[in-house]
This record gives sequence, C-alpha cells and structure tokens, in this order.
Amino acid sequence: MTIAIAYAAPSAKAPLEHTTIERRALRERDVLIEIAYAGICHSDIHTVREEWGQAAFPLVPGHEIAGVVTEVGPDVTKYAVGDRVGVGCFIDSCRKCEQCLAGLEQFCTDGGMTSTYNDKYRDGEVTQGGYSTHIVVDENYVLRIPDGLSLDVAAPLLCAGITIYSPLTHWNAGPGKKVAIVGVGGLGHLGIKIAHAKGAEVTALSQSMRKKEDSLRLGADHYYATGDPETFTKLAGTFDLIVSTVSAVVDLDAYLSLLKPDGVLANVGAPEDSSTLHLFSLVMGRKTLAGSLIGGIKETQEMLDFCAEHGFGADIEVIRADRINEAYDRVVASDVRYRFVIDIASLRD
Ligand SMILES: [Zn+2]
Ligand SMILES: [Zn+2]
Repeated sequence: MTIAIAYAAPSAKAPLEHTTIERRALRERDVLIEIAYAGICHSDIHTVREEWGQAAFPLVPGHEIAGVVTEVGPDVTKYAVGDRVGVGCFIDSCRKCEQCLAGLEQFCTDGGMTSTYNDKYRDGEVTQGGYSTHIVVDENYVLRIPDGLSLDVAAPLLCAGITIYSPLTHWNAGPGKKVAIVGVGGLGHLGIKIAHAKGAEVTALSQSMRKKEDSLRLGADHYYATGDPETFTKLAGTFDLIVSTVSAVVDLDAYLSLLKPDGVLANVGAPEDSSTLHLFSLVMGRKTLAGSLIGGIKETQEMLDFCAEHGFGADIEVIRADRINEAYDRVVASDVRYRFVIDIASLRD
C-alpha cells in the first residue's frame, strides 16, 4: 500500500483541501505511478460541485495525469520503472465485450468503463483521481508518453486531447477537407492544432473576435465570430466536418447549414438541456448530426504519438496545488489559455 498526498473535495459545496489517501498494494499487472502533473478538466468541477448528479466524498478529481513509473507488479510486461506514462478518463472496463475487444473501452457494454475518479472498480474499490502524488493502475489502462513531449503539456492530452482527436480522426479530417472547430477553449485549441497537423483547412469559430490571433497562431487558416450573424451567411455550405466543443445549447440548424452535402456536425460538448432541430436541416444534403466521447486506449496512444511527432502539447498555465480552488473559478469564467495544469510536486510543500 502507498500513502499518497492529495487534494480532495470533502463535500460538494466545500473547497478542495490537502489530505492523504491510500493507494492499493500492487497486484500482478499493476503499475505505481508517481504523478508529476495533473490537468484541470471542466468535468472535475462539474463532478465535485455535483452539477452532474450525486458524487461520493471525499473526492480526489483529476483524469489528465502524467508521471513516471516507480514500481511494477510481477506480471507487468508493458512498462518498466522510469517510463514516462499517462492516465486518462478511465482505468478499467470489462475487457470482454464487443466494444472492449474493439478497443472502444469508453463504450464498454458490460458495466461500463471504470472512471478514474468518483467511481468504483468491479470489486467495489473506490477510484480517486490525479490530484495526488501517486496512482496505481493496471498496465492495460496506462499510456506511454513519447520522449518528445514534456509531461506538463502532455497531461491535458489525456482527456481534452483525445476528446477532440477522436472525432477529427473518425470523420477523416485531413488534406482536402474543410474543418471547423467551434469554441476555442481547452478542447478547441487542441482541435485547431490537431486538425491543422492532419492537413485539413481549418476554420476556428468563436463567439467574438477575441481569440482570433491565438487561433491563427495555433494553426487556423480562417477565423469567424459566431456572434456576428453574417458569419452564417458567408460560410453557408462550406464544411465537410464541424466539431463543436460548446457545452451550451446552440442553434443546431444554423451550424448544420454550414455543412456541405454529406457533411458531419460532431458534438463533444454536452449541454444539460435538450436541443432541438428541424430534420429538414439533415434531409437537405444528407447531413449527419453526431456525438463523440473521449477515445479508447489504442486511439489515445495513437493521439499521444501523433502530437509528439508533430511537436505539440496543450497550451497551459501551471499552478501550485494551493491555487486549485481559484483555478476552478477561472475555468468557469473561461479565464485560462488554455488549460490549468497542477504541479504535483507542490502537494509536498
Ligand atoms: Zn476531462
Ligand atoms: Zn467491456
């Protein structure tokens, strides 16, 4: 057993605070990871504030984890002490269903994926996330962080990166394709980088002109403000693929009108309230309205290798652990460019 120092929410309304948690003794295929950095994802905030339903406290959030292997179980074959590794949104699944066997563990149909925090393993063990000095994970749910990527900028790739990489890959963003990324935040800024690196012609769409310079620097070829109604006239029928990272209810008919025939509008943001659309928006032009959820282990590894090969991680602001609560308020206010990453060494001070 390992005692880890952690930052935990003691209850839904309370700020996160310094504490310790136990990590299980290594089983045959377990890897002990000393965490160096953990990204702050908006899901962490929704979960600890119980905006997505009841949570179990005390709760250590964090599913954008980067660190180094410090010990391995006797049957581990994929990793060795000293390896640079990551952990994302899930740390187990049934391993036997059709989805798991296809490498789509996030869609496991036999009990679902086991989330990295605020969840229970199949044996009842409570899961606690990455705002902590150590984590124990089965090697099959651990990712390798390539040498070219530093651990701080790699951390946000484990959730934000794969969330946007998967739809861009599934719907073939690449040379000759016109791709729009809606929303330039934690997900969107990586969407611009990835779609550009895949060779697509990239348009960034954000509410105002405020993020134009950043978007062009990140690799966008074009930038338009969605707050300007003329944008929707100008860009009508333009895109092969639109990936929306917006988590508020949007005018789906308006976005569908920006697609070419056979175009796809893929959503990775999920508003709480229902959305409506006129089916005419799909019928006219045989268009597809779709959604996407993170990615499986195999695709997450592919994404990390892709980002390393193209020489980029996330744009981050590194913070000490004692600034997590302040960072939460800034995330809610969209006041970060573009992801907070906790320096886990600061938990030891
Ligand atoms: Zn996340
Ligand atoms: Zn399964």
